[in-house]
Amino acid sequence: MKKEWFDFRGTPAEIVSLNTAVVGSGAAGYNAALRLKEAGQPDVAVVTEGVRMGTSRNTGSDKQTYYKLNLCGDVPDSPAAMARDLFAGRCVDGDLALCEAALSARCFFNLCEAGVPFPVNRYGEYVGYRTDHDPRARATSAGPLTSKLMTERLEQRVREQRIPVFDGYVVVSILKDTSGRACGLLALRRARAESEDTRFALFNCRNIVYAVGGPAGIYGDSVYPFGHSGASGVAFEAGAAGRNLTEWQYGLASTSPRWNVSGSYMQVLPRFLSVDPDGTEHEFLADYYGDRGRCLSMVFRKGYEWPFDSRKAVDGSSVIDLLVYRERVLRGRRVYLDFRTNPFGLPDVDYASLAEDARSYLESAQACFGTPIDRLRRINAPAVELYRSKGVDLERERLEIALCAQHSNGGLAVDLWWRTNVPGLFAAGEAAGTHGVYRPGGSALNAGQVGSLRAAQYIARHGGAPLPAEEFAGIALPALEAHRSLARAVIGGPDTAGKLLHAAASRMSAAGGPIRDVCGMRKALAQAEDLLAHFAERVRVPSAAGLMRAYRLRDVLLCQRTVLYAMLDYAAHGGKSRGSALYPSARGEKAERLEELFRFEPDRGGLDAQIQEVTVAAGGCRAVWRPVHPIPEGGGFFENVWRGYRKNGNVF
Ligand SMILES: Cc1cc2nc3c(=O)[nH]c(=O)nc-3n(C[C@H](O)[C@H](O)[C@H](O)COP(=O)(O)OP(=O)(O)OC[C@H]3O[C@@H](n4cnc5c(N)ncnc54)[C@H](O)[C@@H]3O)c2cc1C
Repeated sequence: MKKEWFDFRGTPAEIVSLNTAVVGSGAAGYNAALRLKEAGQPDVAVVTEGVRMGTSRNTGSDKQTYYKLNLCGDVPDSPAAMARDLFAGRCVDGDLALCEAALSARCFFNLCEAGVPFPVNRYGEYVGYRTDHDPRARATSAGPLTSKLMTERLEQRVREQRIPVFDGYVVVSILKDTSGRACGLLALRRARAESEDTRFALFNCRNIVYAVGGPAGIYGDSVYPFGHSGASGVAFEAGAAGRNLTEWQYGLASTSPRWNVSGSYMQVLPRFLSVDPDGTEHEFLADYYGDRGRCLSMVFRKGYEWPFDSRKAVDGSSVIDLLVYRERVLRGRRVYLDFRTNPFGLPDVDYASLAEDARSYLESAQACFGTPIDRLRRINAPAVELYRSKGVDLERERLEIALCAQHSNGGLAVDLWWRTNVPGLFAAGEAAGTHGVYRPGGSALNAGQVGSLRAAQYIARHGGAPLPAEEFAGIALPALEAHRSLARAVIGGPDTAGKLLHAAASRMSAAGGPIRDVCGMRKALAQAEDLLAHFAERVRVPSAAGLMRAYRLRDVLLCQRTVLYAMLDYAAHGGKSRGSALYPSARGEKAERLEELFRFEPDRGGLDAQIQEVTVAAGGCRAVWRPVHPIPEGGGFFENVWRGYRKNGNVF
């Protein structure tokens, strides 16, 4: 790695030249850097907007899950079987599914060796449990903060390996040479943005591993950690294709702190309340459900059917999600869970009226008594403590909730080496789109480890060097000048960036979230495009310290534009409601007594064999549909595989 200062038309800027820049310091980014070094490419650095930022480090759930090949008991498992289950998520490429299955055990053991405390039994077996869409108990967990532990242990190794980490560098542009190959990055330096000389840094690199997490910032109602926004917009702007951008996961979560209210939080049957701007309270579930026993049974079921699922949106537990959405988005009310009093204002719950699964669970847990908080303390006391540790005392206050974005199943399109369509640019972790409509719980963390390993293997094998710094400086000049002048234009005046960001994210939650009305999406797309076109005129931050906010808004708009285009194209292509999204339709079905907005035609799998990819080009976005790659045969005759492997690595 070499650092040099160059003069760019009278203003200096630093150029760091190196083989590979890994963008992002989450579980995927750190793993990419480590794997590169292990595979023989030492000239690597991590570039991150903040080592304490990102989803992996700052999120969790009651039992945060890691999905891997079954390594316990006598349940038969194999890469082929796991690949089939990943592939069954629909619109998943079979070659990627096989890679994620084949490298699952290796990646999992790497984490164990790094010190992530995944539990074993007395004989050393990694005991598993079943998660959603998982027939073979492949799930494991290191507790509520599995991804945090992964990130910390991998970070420790990165430090031990003395891999440089550029902390506080927000990537705002991916630079390409004249052949269209990615050759570097332009980054805003958060702590040194005051001076034009130090405001931007340039990375001149042969390869980029883009591990910036999911594009969380596009949604206002979100359970991604505060501070994590993502940077997919920058990659779309550079011409990287997005895949399955329509496929997200939404579910009920508290908004402050941001945390999924799954599992026990629902199984103890809390009271749902909404509040008008004038303070009037509504027990809206009671208003909707005539049968109270049925209502509470659905609330209970929401505990283990957490993500909003269009298949359960007519008479299943996902009607609860729709009712929350209706209160908040259509009626402009705030929605709360109250654990201090029983639903319907009654002194006690009529347990006999509950469905069999709910009643027998509560009976077995000896929790048929008291208020929701009493039951929660009995069933899962740490769940009460968890909120207390985050400043919310469920014994004294209610908890605000919303139907929130939680995970992007799609992302940047990658091949089986996690290369994007832009040569030199790889994507890994949630930034890469390797999942489909559904995915087994926990498979995101596995995919992040496998993808970062695959990218590292490919890069280490293929060598190459960054451009000569002078040549790179010539390529970087136009982008550097454009961003310098954008920054100058934006600095000064009352802050509009924060408000515009809030408005854009709220629009997306209302129009392009779990409910995707075509008119609403068209309007939101036009608004995103309009603001992008007039960015320098309308966006202001009072000082250079606010530039990060302005750049975050820019990335959010770039990303919203691509994602909304993908959603509209999906609808125009005949796509129906599937996964975690409803596309309202005049035909079809809806839950009784809900508005027409909630009428939809369920997807019957008509597009399962096709994958949508969207690219941004000069004339705007463009979508192509192509067949899903089938699962390859895999395996092979050992001597033949070995011969090829000895000769040329066989695999590239
Ligand atoms: C509430 C919740 C619960 C979840 N539970 C599970 C679960 O049980 N199992 C599971 O498999 N998955 C789960 N997930 C998903 C999973 O946690 C994430 O997909 C995963 O942690 C993403 O890791 P990553 O390394 O790709 O990205 P992140 O951890 O988000 O890291 C992204 C990194 O990129 C950096 N970055 C971003 N933009 C820029 C930029 N412009 N310039 C420089 N750096 C940048 C960030 O600072 C950060 O360091 C959950 C997610 C949430 C929100």
